Amino acid sequence: MDHFLYRDGILHAEDIPLPQIAAAVGTPFYVYSTATLKRHYRLFKDALSGMDNMVCYAMKANSNQAVLKTLADLGAGMDVVSGGEYARAKAAGVPGERIVFSGVGKTREEMRLALEGGIRQFNIESEPEMVVLSDVANSMGVTAPVTIRINPDVDARTHEKIATGKSENKFGIPIARAKEVYAMAASLPGLDVVGIDVHIGSQLVELEPFEQAYLKVAELTKLLRAEGHNIRRLDLGGGLGIPYARSNEAPPLPTDYGALIQKCVGHLDVEVEIEPGRLIAGNAGLLVASVIYLKEGEGRNFLILDAAMNDLIRPSMYAAYHDIVPVVEATPGVEQQPYDIVGPVCESGDTFAKGRDLTPLGPNDLVAFRSAGAYGAVMASEYNTRPLIPEVLVKDDQFAVIRARPTFDEMINRDIVPEWV
Ligand SMILES: *Cc1c(COP(=O)(O)O)cnc(C)c1O
Repeated sequence: MDHFLYRDGILHAEDIPLPQIAAAVGTPFYVYSTATLKRHYRLFKDALSGMDNMVCYAMKANSNQAVLKTLADLGAGMDVVSGGEYARAKAAGVPGERIVFSGVGKTREEMRLALEGGIRQFNIESEPEMVVLSDVANSMGVTAPVTIRINPDVDARTHEKIATGKSENKFGIPIARAKEVYAMAASLPGLDVVGIDVHIGSQLVELEPFEQAYLKVAELTKLLRAEGHNIRRLDLGGGLGIPYARSNEAPPLPTDYGALIQKCVGHLDVEVEIEPGRLIAGNAGLLVASVIYLKEGEGRNFLILDAAMNDLIRPSMYAAYHDIVPVVEATPGVEQQPYDIVGPVCESGDTFAKGRDLTPLGPNDLVAFRSAGAYGAVMASEYNTRPLIPEVLVKDDQFAVIRARPTFDEMINRDIVPEWV
């Protein structure tokens, strides 16, 4: 459920009609709903309420400071994957004890930054990384809390580019080697082994792969405890999927996901962490664009929008589907027409949808891409020297630009021409 509904035939973000935002900031733009962000965070909190838990929002999904602060004020933790994200979390007021640091390639500088600013735990992904963290922590005279990310060799049955829990993926250490890697961690100075971490992929639309992974983690918990490790925290990752095509997708609900976690690890007397990103932010955002031209081709009509692959790369990168709807609701009885919906970038990959049925549209009409709040703005680029598009946050009947569109001069002046050129 979200807060983008038609009222009197006009699509609204909470209480604001989208044409009002379009008139104020120009198109294209991203718009996020505060109520939806909060609702999704609370769904996870409620789903885990029977257990000692922390919901660490995976901020790579959408790391705008206003989004982070909205969630941080509810008590959310953050899952960060870079020094930059760590700095963003701190800047949004998240205390170090609510930040977990994931990622396969943490540098010494990133480790130092997090150890200085405070960290709940590092999720370690390899032995070399473990040795480096031990060295950094030791040299600073501090102890780094760590979990080790295990790779359970489970098929998440999602797009190959966002599956992370198979043995051929670069993530984590093979579960079969966990015993020896934990022994090594326990022997290194400067590390405090607090638990186990797992994350098998993103946009999972079934619970079964989670169950397989979590049962393996439960078994490993017992084994490692028997080896003398004080396993007291399980980070179960993120990955719960969202319905991108509302008409025919129904991924599991957070309540059922929570019940599964309770079933798999609830008896182990552990603190549970989860790292949802997409489910919190995805359906809390729209990308709103205008039609520039309707181009009639041979056997197909192209709807050329002012938004492009640089603004929302998911369709060209993952062949991802987004519902695309007119901002002014279709008049009942008017026949829909198939369109290829494309952007102006000079690549054929700049195609959002092919043969998509829509009410007849023409120049200056507004369309909205649903489910664009996660992995949208954060993956945008300025390819073709197209400015990063504004992000807008709505709360009830208020809205504000939370990242402005840069001017051409601002973009150009980031380049430096040496005097010897
Ligand atoms: C990307 C990622 C997440 C979030 O995944 P979602 O599908 O957005 O919930 C959580 N944990 C880790 C380690 C990740 O890399």
